[in-house]
Amino acid sequence: MSEWSSKAKDILDCHVHMRSLADEESMLAIREATGIDRMVLVSIQNPGEGAGLPQSLYMKACHSSLFFVFAGLNHAEKLSGGKASTPSLAEQAAAYLEMGCDGIKMIEGKPTSRQKMDIPVTDPYFAEYWERAEELGVPIVWHVNDPEEFWDPDALPGWAKERNWGYGPDDVRKEQLYAEVDEVLTRHPGLRIIFAHFYFLSADLPRAARFFDEHPTVYFDLAPGIEMLYNISRDPEAGREFFLKYADRIVFGTDLSSSLSVEEGVIRAGIVYRWLESDDTFRVPEEADFLLGPPEDGIVRGMALPDVALARIYSGNLIRLAGSRPRPLDVQAAIAACERLASIAEAMSGKRAAETDAAQVAERLAGR
Ligand SMILES: [Zn+2]
Repeated sequence: MSEWSSKAKDILDCHVHMRSLADEESMLAIREATGIDRMVLVSIQNPGEGAGLPQSLYMKACHSSLFFVFAGLNHAEKLSGGKASTPSLAEQAAAYLEMGCDGIKMIEGKPTSRQKMDIPVTDPYFAEYWERAEELGVPIVWHVNDPEEFWDPDALPGWAKERNWGYGPDDVRKEQLYAEVDEVLTRHPGLRIIFAHFYFLSADLPRAARFFDEHPTVYFDLAPGIEMLYNISRDPEAGREFFLKYADRIVFGTDLSSSLSVEEGVIRAGIVYRWLESDDTFRVPEEADFLLGPPEDGIVRGMALPDVALARIYSGNLIRLAGSRPRPLDVQAAIAACERLASIAEAMSGKRAAETDAAQVAERLAGR
């Protein structure tokens, strides 16, 4: 059986990627087919291309009841050595919220980001941003780290290798990244952070529990990282106990992408639904998308969580953080922001501003 739908009434997904402006119809079709009511578009910026955030703003403008937008930060100024100029990170965060974005997405803390911009999040460059984020109480979906296997060439899965997600002695170490987060949270204990992919602690639930106990305002999302399901399935009883105890700290997510086929989307969401809701023992279907790896990689054992826990995980926790409905977008402000992103891209990479997604979105929104 490759399709598995949820019995839940209201499903919010805190971790979805809108890849391209051309994906509007496929994103809507995936949403519909997976039974997800509202999606958070986590929008990592690609500053040299003027892409990553504009297409999400477009979806929010056109389908305002369906899509939350968590905006990524733009590091063009740092990355271009000052060729492009950008507002400070604190100003960016405040402006995105002001225009109607619902939160912030961060990927500063994935080792590949660190390869591009070797600035730890404890650096003064981030100081004012953290202060402001704490003050504003803005929810942040933050990808920190990666699975252990990515530092071990012998254990690196094929799908990760293909993405250049294998790390060596020159890369930042896993424990270093965790230590930096601890430092940020110690300085700013009020930050409301959803750590993506279970914070890559699925192989060590006692440590995950300690982390939750030490930091009462942090959450984990369930976006695979398929290793998360395999790790927790090794001891499904311990997994179930953890999920029951921390049901108010776990947020449903899929890492769905608008570039998947509808079938792949249904399979991806179905794997997470089935893991949470059933007591089945199963494998990833053959037809699953590439990043979920082949069926032979592991076994998933369902946790058969009760409805009360499911309701928190599927909707209650995210609603507490980001509200029940997406905030309305100030379209004029979004157009102006997209125009700025287009010229930042041109200054940074030489790509013509008019050819960026940002400029196209600005034009489409202005013409509505
Ligand atoms: Zn993701």
